[in-house]
Amino acid sequence: MTARALDPIFSPRSIAVVGASRRRDSIGFALLHNLLVNEFNGAIYPVNPHAESVHSLKCYPAMAAIPDPVDLAMILVPKHLVQGAVEECVAKGVKGLVVITAGFSETGEEGAARERKLRETVRAAGVRMIGPNCMGVINTSSDVSLNATFAPTPARPGAIGFVSQSGALGVAILNVAQDLGIGLTQFASMGNKADVSGNDLIEYWEDDPATRVIAMYLESFGNPRRFTEIAKRVTRKKPVLIVKSGRTAEGARAASSHTGAIAGTDVTVSAFLDQCGVLRANTIEELFDVARALVRCPLPAGDRVAIVTNAGGPAIMATDACVNLGLRMAELSEGTRAGLRAALPPEASVANPVDMIASATAQDYARTLAAVLDDPGADLAMVINVTALLSNPIDIIEAVGEVARDRAKPVLAVVMATDEFYEAVKTARDLPPVYRFPESAARAMFLLSRYAAWRRRPADAPIPRFETADDQVAAILDAAPDGYLDPGAVFRVLELYGIPVIRQRLAAGREEALAAAREIGFPVVLKAVAPGLVHKSDVGAVRIDLRSEAELARALAEMEGALARAGFAAEGYLVQEMARGGHEVIFGITTDPRFGPLLMFGLGGKYVEVFQDVRFAVPPLDALEAREVVRGIRGFKLLEGVRGEPGADLDLLAEILLRLSQLVQRHPGIRELDVNPFLAGPDRESARALDARLLHEKIVRTDSKGG
Ligand code: ADP
Ligand code: MG
Repeated sequence: MTARALDPIFSPRSIAVVGASRRRDSIGFALLHNLLVNEFNGAIYPVNPHAESVHSLKCYPAMAAIPDPVDLAMILVPKHLVQGAVEECVAKGVKGLVVITAGFSETGEEGAARERKLRETVRAAGVRMIGPNCMGVINTSSDVSLNATFAPTPARPGAIGFVSQSGALGVAILNVAQDLGIGLTQFASMGNKADVSGNDLIEYWEDDPATRVIAMYLESFGNPRRFTEIAKRVTRKKPVLIVKSGRTAEGARAASSHTGAIAGTDVTVSAFLDQCGVLRANTIEELFDVARALVRCPLPAGDRVAIVTNAGGPAIMATDACVNLGLRMAELSEGTRAGLRAALPPEASVANPVDMIASATAQDYARTLAAVLDDPGADLAMVINVTALLSNPIDIIEAVGEVARDRAKPVLAVVMATDEFYEAVKTARDLPPVYRFPESAARAMFLLSRYAAWRRRPADAPIPRFETADDQVAAILDAAPDGYLDPGAVFRVLELYGIPVIRQRLAAGREEALAAAREIGFPVVLKAVAPGLVHKSDVGAVRIDLRSEAELARALAEMEGALARAGFAAEGYLVQEMARGGHEVIFGITTDPRFGPLLMFGLGGKYVEVFQDVRFAVPPLDALEAREVVRGIRGFKLLEGVRGEPGADLDLLAEILLRLSQLVQRHPGIRELDVNPFLAGPDRESARALDARLLHEKIVRTDSKGG
């Protein structure tokens, strides 16, 4: 698609409204009404065979009857008439279509078939189409002035491009934007995305200088791979903010691996968005809170927050909120503090948060904020004002705006005042963004600094290639039936991929097990191998630290009994060296029905079940991403080593992720892999996989591509 292919939809010079209606309570009336009252700059042609005129405009019986060229056609006719109407529009030579009518793929197979036909028609004609089942489009640019929606609330001009997958939520979004005084460049409700997708919209706004922030409400990703590619590129130029609702229904499927079970949850979506530099908001309200900051503030150089306040309580809440989100509190220099001490009353507190006490005037705010912003130890500032008897919050926010304007650091304001105040400041674009509560401002600051960090991050780190015996891996996978690979084969695959594994022997029975233990040397670990046995410790099929032949013999006998009681028949035993020390971590591969293969890393062993402290990443991983995944888990400090305990070889952990990334890229038949635990010691020699399972299936290659 060329970037301007959506111009006929967003910047048409003429519009036909097919299905315009004289009935005031109909969508066909509401939409025409919006076009008129918002003073569309081009010509409007209502089309309806049963009316002479609609809403003071001459009405045409059919597209062919319109004497002039038409750029955009809005389709609002009943669902069975849509195909015919679209064909008429194509014949007339329209370049864009917005199909409002519902009753397509969202209603079942019959509707889906009609939608496919519609798509074929527009694709064959080279006409772009938004919808069906959507609410319309808006372009606030003064030389277009297009409101082709049936939403009751207009949109004001601004700097945010907004795309909503849901029409109903689109109406709500326009309401919230209006309430908060937030302006948009363009708005589109996507509906069923039969032709134009969210990805197309992102690309459309990529090079539009007026659109400085791209915001999306999404329920599903049509094509996650393509989204990744586009988002990674666009977020280098401007922020993309998203509210994603709805967990994937497919993700809820029962999964037998830890990686699969955790991947079914929403964390994978977050991981995926993180990896593309997309900011995720939890609610529409939060999305707008962040969007306002992104539109009005420069990006911070770091994450150290200074707080300037006239009241203690809200500053404490602000500090808590910032610290909990992972922002740091700025350390003000001795010089800054001395200056503040001289200027402020003796009761004031000059350390961060700087509390100027209730008597603070607009001038105090200006002076204090200037001093704080000029301190190289602060990257962002939050100014808090609780309306006091003698000060007017409007004067204060204006003074704050003045100071913030000439300094390249973001300033966000929290003002606890009356509704009149918010009404007065909401559209004042030269003022800092104002929030009612410190938590909202903190959250906006957090995403602002996250985005700034993304922009500072090098764009493309290398994707390392490892020498691996892929023919041998393929031979192992080809030789085994679909399903779980037997343990010997799994460990072999890991070895072929340069992943260290524990020293072990596979033994068919008791005597072989004893011989294996003698060869490995006591103490040893004994594990049963049985068809269908996946979680071994649950059924007593793992015995560790066996110190003598007698202990091993007893363990073998007991294990046989335990297995029989659990309904398993041992076909053999693994005798392993007893490993000590190190940190148990998990590496995983899983296949998400939407996202395809995913890699996972986190704290392993029993911690997986309890803390689920893991990170996901979409392969292929680059070297920087692998490092970020390892460093991104909450328990990372444990891996660094705490209280004199040695840490883990972090470079090795990142390297193993990269090796697994290559493995799943080259052998896509691997559906799931859990290496759990991998014992990570301080160096390469002390690290090894103690347990692993691998689920695979033969790939039947198809050339079908998802939309
Ligand atoms: P499963 O996950 O099927 O229950 P594992 O092979 O992972 O079985 O073993 C369970 C636990 O036993 C591991 O998390 C680890 O703590 C411990 N363990 C397993 N193998 C060894 C070994 N070779 N040395 C030391 N501890 C081990
Ligand atoms: Mg295990």
